[in-house]
Amino acid sequence: MKKGYYSVDSIRDSLRNPGLITPLLKGLAYTFKIFCTKPPTIQYPTERREISDRWRGIHRFIKDSNSKYKCVGCGLCAAVCPPKAITIVTEESEDGERFPSRFMIDELRCIFCGYCVEVCPKDAIEYSKVYDFVGYTKEEFKLEKEDLENPEKYIYQGK
Ligand code: SF4
Ligand code: SF4
Repeated sequence: MKKGYYSVDSIRDSLRNPGLITPLLKGLAYTFKIFCTKPPTIQYPTERREISDRWRGIHRFIKDSNSKYKCVGCGLCAAVCPPKAITIVTEESEDGERFPSRFMIDELRCIFCGYCVEVCPKDAIEYSKVYDFVGYTKEEFKLEKEDLENPEKYIYQGK
């Protein structure tokens, strides 16, 4: 017999050994059980899993009921942001209201720490559940306030 090959006798001897046959049967039983259950995989992206409410996806820049940004351009979010991912330019309207003429988050720099969401006195920023935003260049990840109004538009549809 060649070295490394098993003879029929040696296999028969092994199968007579309960120390070997029991784990083998257990393994086969488990395989059969998994074979009969629904697969855990899903048909992404047409099927999507439920995302936890705590999920931190791309930011949403929120408007109020009058379709105006809640943000008053105080700059607190930009000040606390550790990687300096937020760029904000604040202006004042003729009636003395402050508003952000520019608000941009660089989602590639962002570490999703949550400071900006926590610190905002106007609840003007929140996290969406969008996790599959993709791009080919760094510039595509710099999202302006208009881009952040509806992050759901970035949900991958499979093209
Ligand atoms: S989540 Fe953190 S890192 Fe991201 S923009 Fe807000 S403060 Fe900056
Ligand atoms: S902390 Fe809130 S209100 Fe202040 S600039 Fe940031 S988003 Fe606007």
